[in-house]
Amino acid sequence: MGATKTTRKPPEWLLGWERLLVNRAQPYAVQQEDGSYRWVKESCTLDLLREHLAGRVTLALSSLDEAGGAHWACLDADAPESLGALVHLHAALAAMGWPGIVEASRRGGHLWLFCADVVPAALLSRALRGVLGRLEHQGLRLPKLEVYPDKENRLGHAVRLPLGVHRKTGRRYPLLDADGLPLRFASRPAAVRYVLALPRIPLHFLRASWEMPVVSLPAPSPRPGATRSPIIRWVDAEISPLDLLAEMAPDSAMQRVGQGYLGFCPLHDDAAPQNDGSPGRPSFYAVQHRTYGWSWRCLSTNCHFNDGPMKHSFRLFCELHHCSAREGIQLARRRWPQLGEE
Ligand SMILES: [Zn+2]
Repeated sequence: MGATKTTRKPPEWLLGWERLLVNRAQPYAVQQEDGSYRWVKESCTLDLLREHLAGRVTLALSSLDEAGGAHWACLDADAPESLGALVHLHAALAAMGWPGIVEASRRGGHLWLFCADVVPAALLSRALRGVLGRLEHQGLRLPKLEVYPDKENRLGHAVRLPLGVHRKTGRRYPLLDADGLPLRFASRPAAVRYVLALPRIPLHFLRASWEMPVVSLPAPSPRPGATRSPIIRWVDAEISPLDLLAEMAPDSAMQRVGQGYLGFCPLHDDAAPQNDGSPGRPSFYAVQHRTYGWSWRCLSTNCHFNDGPMKHSFRLFCELHHCSAREGIQLARRRWPQLGEE
């Protein structure tokens, strides 16, 4: 390999690169001259990572650690001409809170997504499938993709690390900016520092994006009768639960699912892990009906708001303020001064 052992303290960028990409020290894979990979049952050292960046060896690393965790996901589009679609996907994911970076490859590209913490691969891949499904549902044309990690335990599929040289073509494929144009760096460490400074996906965001549970969703209920306070009627008619949650309980992270929206319930603790240790499931459901307007309920049987008919916005306003309907009317007047006196 020709690597010289150094006794100096390794540079921070190289240590950061190792923390970012190395899920498990061994084995690692080495790309062969024909483009294939061979596992090596030894530890991937800092010297090897440096040799990869220098282009003298090309490494691919497992997309999983020994315990089924992952630091990153990689979406591999390797159909010819798929790079443009991958750049669009990158922009769409970033807009949904999934930042990453695209690296061109021999035929298409890799879209790298980095996690702020080590996360269970099962959570990462389900959340990713969920968000890709939603984008497709919204009409985005996805390129044909391999998604890594593709397993939940044992040795993960090896993915070629960024910024190296493809052994078969001898080329070093660039990282791309948001417009799909190659990024240029003064040095390899500068490129590494750029990648290290990219935003990473936080764990709570993955939980919120967890593939939505299959549930039979309740029907919307009619607007409350005309006998109630005009303030209550106005809030029910004009204010959406989504806006109330965005203002008073943003952690609910409401996301479109089917006809309605689902997120973490602010009225009980459903972000807490389940008894079996799996991540909490979003269970607060809100839906807008053409005739009936907005209504909501919690789908968790642990929750006080699971039973009975669908509820409306004013009730949510009061629950989020922990107040009675009478107090809620006063608060609503202050919150929406256009309401005037009842
Ligand atoms: Zn609830």
